[in-house]
Amino acid sequence: MPEPQPEPGREQPRLDPWGSTVIDYSKVFTEFGISRFEELLPRVKEPHLYMRRRIIMGHRDYELILDAMERRRPFAVMSGFMPSGKLHLGGKMVMDEIIWHQRMGAAAFVSIADMEAHAVRGISWRECKEIGVSEYVLSLIALGFDPHRGFIYFQSENRMLHDLAFELGCEVNIGEMSAVYGFSGDVNVSKCVSVLMQSADILQPQLAAFGGPKPTVIPVGFDQDPHIRLTRDIASRARLFTVELVKREKDEYECVRVRAKTRDAASALKEVSSRLGGEKRAYEMHVDVYGEPFEEVERVVREAEIELGGYGFYPPAATFHRFMRGLGGGKMSSSKPESYIALTEPPEEAAAKVMNAKTGGRATLEEQRKLGGVPEECIVYELLMFHLIEDDRHVAEVYEECISGRRTCAACKKAAAELMLSFLKEHQERREEAKDVLKELDYGKKWLEVVKL
Ligand code: SF4
Repeated sequence: MPEPQPEPGREQPRLDPWGSTVIDYSKVFTEFGISRFEELLPRVKEPHLYMRRRIIMGHRDYELILDAMERRRPFAVMSGFMPSGKLHLGGKMVMDEIIWHQRMGAAAFVSIADMEAHAVRGISWRECKEIGVSEYVLSLIALGFDPHRGFIYFQSENRMLHDLAFELGCEVNIGEMSAVYGFSGDVNVSKCVSVLMQSADILQPQLAAFGGPKPTVIPVGFDQDPHIRLTRDIASRARLFTVELVKREKDEYECVRVRAKTRDAASALKEVSSRLGGEKRAYEMHVDVYGEPFEEVERVVREAEIELGGYGFYPPAATFHRFMRGLGGGKMSSSKPESYIALTEPPEEAAAKVMNAKTGGRATLEEQRKLGGVPEECIVYELLMFHLIEDDRHVAEVYEECISGRRTCAACKKAAAELMLSFLKEHQERREEAKDVLKELDYGKKWLEVVKL
């Protein structure tokens, strides 16, 4: 799908992966070409609560993932975490989505983006390792990720990733990166390299070493869309062939066009074409195929591309969730501990933060009884809906009781604080068990030796 272009004279709006998380959601669909997830919801079996509750709002090409799930074909999920501070409930959302896809049959990949943390935040390698293992890896496993069926890695330790990033770098120039991310001349080169590492993270599940090309979904917040868009472009450029449907309404015929992107690929077109059924018309750089289904042509061309040494990448798909707000109602910021709840903080302190969080309650109890509360403005409601209540009917009850004035904020906060307390206590017990799981893995043992937990 072509990306929407800005009107002449108007600056291209930009999402910033390293900047503000305050996003105008009304614009992400119109200005960035992201599709609405709710249109796909009826096709999702056992949807995750983020899907059911419209917290996952957008997607790119998630149809590819649904097709793979429905046909029981291979697909993958991958996302990454920058080890620059505490893992808070916002990061947990991405982990929950990875784990859900793994349970749905996806090959699951998790990158600990230490090269990004080092280049962008100046975190030392030692700290990256400590934060990565103690904050992120242990919580990921404690939340339900199965490392025996999935792959967790540090960017800096993954040689295959470095080689792929180098190759992908041949497909993108500095000017383009600047346009996508707003980089100015003083951006350090390692930050550009870390962008390429992330593109490699996203495409790595499709390498031959991991079973070859497959639809891959990247669960992220909307602010990460620049990485997704750039990587989709790079994935397309790294192909040897493009396959497109050509419709000519006046002539009332359609064909599938296979276009070679290089002279070398063009010289292989005849051989590729011979593997396809239907009528074919060959030209210098492309062949038009009549009477063959698009999917079949794509499959044959992808196979041929891999034999020729190409990647055959599918464009990476993505889901986009909306962000939780900070506990005070503003932006959740990793530099402001009072704005978030970390998964490793003492449960009693987290419960106290819930008791102090912004509510959507009225000024007096009398007003609350009369007018009802405003759950849309309430962070306590957000905590319940995003993290603490699994049962949809229970969430609906809280909402109804709130807007009808039957629920008081004091009792509601107390209930939420108790749920948070027991969630964190249980999670932290599971983190202890996760250390034993890590010891069963060769790479986990090595990390534990360095980090000494
Ligand atoms: S009753 Fe609960 S959901 Fe409603 S505004 Fe108060 S704290 Fe929020």
